[in-house]
Amino acid sequence: MKEAQKIIDLNQADPQKFRSWNFLQDFCITCGLCASSCPASGIDGFDPRKVVRMVSLGLEQELVDSKFPWICTMCGKCEEVCPMQINIPDLVRSIRGLRDRDKVPGTLHKGLQAALKTGNNLGLPKDDFIFILEDVGEEIAEEPGFEGFKVPIDKKGANVLTTVHNKLVNTQNEDLKHWWKIFYAAGEDWTIPSDNWEGTNWGYFTGDDEAMKTMTGRILENMRRLEVKTLLWPE
Ligand code: SF4
Ligand code: SF4
Repeated sequence: MKEAQKIIDLNQADPQKFRSWNFLQDFCITCGLCASSCPASGIDGFDPRKVVRMVSLGLEQELVDSKFPWICTMCGKCEEVCPMQINIPDLVRSIRGLRDRDKVPGTLHKGLQAALKTGNNLGLPKDDFIFILEDVGEEIAEEPGFEGFKVPIDKKGANVLTTVHNKLVNTQNEDLKHWWKIFYAAGEDWTIPSDNWEGTNWGYFTGDDEAMKTMTGRILENMRRLEVKTLLWPE
């Protein structure tokens, strides 16, 4: 049975339910532009219009139990094209925030717990992180034109501090090289923190405001500690 057929029960509708939310769900004219632009439309019966209509009807439990908010990638294309300026990604994030934290889909929940505990979604120890960075740096230094390259870890007073997406230190080390080489060629004065370096904030994606603030606060603390004024947060 498709998701939509399974969850919608109009007897449970409570149109006053989400009136305190500052979204424009009642203005939807079902024009379908969001669905046409959405890369996730059709997956397990997902259609952004269904989410908007369910919020409008106040179908809270159905929304929280539904897969729909977790199918949406929060890419924002629908918001760009919506003639009624309905902010579907923010709507989706608010719905995600209503789910019990231990019922948040596994990877996101486990990754966020690891990040809160260790500073990164992988739970990668600091020594291993530094080893990976230095190893990639040594490979760059072997390439013509990059002799002497070193990764400026925890450099105080640098111009730019960068965060890192965890997959770049996990399975896609090669991708680190591209932007580090650009820094080198541009003569940029940059640094990368050895603690709390995670650039992927799953507090944001899972609708967990407290976790989002904690993760963001740690990045700001790195900037204060290292006296860096510019942040490059590539995520
Ligand atoms: S684009 Fe906006 S108005 Fe049109 S169906 Fe989607 S949410 Fe409704
Ligand atoms: S934000 Fe979600 S609903 Fe909107 S286009 Fe992206 S995936 Fe589709």
